Amino acid sequence: MTAYECPVCQYVYDEAKGAPREGFPAGTPWADVPDDWACPDCGVREKIDFEAATA
Ligand SMILES: [Zn+2]
Repeated sequence: MTAYECPVCQYVYDEAKGAPREGFPAGTPWADVPDDWACPDCGVREKIDFEAATA
């Protein structure tokens, strides 16, 4: 499982946790998140802008 971080607000999408309030249950792989899904915290960056988080 990998986590992806928004470069603007540091919101992290963790595949293991998903984003239930966004409609992605825990365990939803990043590949299943639509490319035009916008960051739920800042709303100014989309999936393609997110960077893999190593920590
Ligand atoms: Zn953001």
